[in-house]
Amino acid sequence: MEIVPVPAFTDNYIWLVHDEESGETALVDPGDAAPAVAEAERRGWTISQVWNTHWHPDHTGGNLAIKERTGARISGPASGRIPGRDVGLAEGDEIRIGKHVGRVIEVPGHTLDHIALIFDDERAAFVGDTLFAMGCGRLFEGSPEQMYRSLQRLADLPEDVRLYCAHEYTLANAVFAVHAEPGNPAVAHRLERIKSLREEGKITLPTTVAEERETNPFVRATNVQEFALRREAKDSFRS
Ligand SMILES: [Zn+2]
Repeated sequence: MEIVPVPAFTDNYIWLVHDEESGETALVDPGDAAPAVAEAERRGWTISQVWNTHWHPDHTGGNLAIKERTGARISGPASGRIPGRDVGLAEGDEIRIGKHVGRVIEVPGHTLDHIALIFDDERAAFVGDTLFAMGCGRLFEGSPEQMYRSLQRLADLPEDVRLYCAHEYTLANAVFAVHAEPGNPAVAHRLERIKSLREEGKITLPTTVAEERETNPFVRATNVQEFALRREAKDSFRS
């Protein structure tokens, strides 16, 4: 399973997932059809599926154009308003590309319909806007309790699982993380690494469960109250 990022809008990533054996390609959260289709065509990959993590337009805006052009089957949260959805996904469901099987977990908080797709054998998880490198999504629909539990479920995955997030927010998150945990050397070191990558125009994703356990102030919050305070502080934080 090959996984490739396609930048979209100012800071979104659409992930292309390609299975060589079956020739299938899935797009994760195609907010914009054009760049994702162009990259798939450049690689000679045929788009057969779309997987959405939640309903927000910067994740689903390309669904209908992609479906019209490729006939791709669209899978997304059963409880969400997903344009063109063919398959509704809920906790415990499976998603397949070739012989690779992912499982669906519900991770409400950023939105109530939010799901994550976990490919245990490939050590890969598509987490949308729930967990970001050193950060987490804003609470637009869910409660702090829901989001804290969702983050803990992701952080409880094996430490070598790669987390494919949907935005390049890492630098701003790292600056806040240093503010939230000034005494954590792993956070300070990671900020320096992230700065170098961004100065070179490089992507900072995917991240890993191990890195997030060490440096993500939202994952590291010891209880819901601490999580909620950090989320509120981040919402108004100016570096
Ligand atoms: Zn979103």
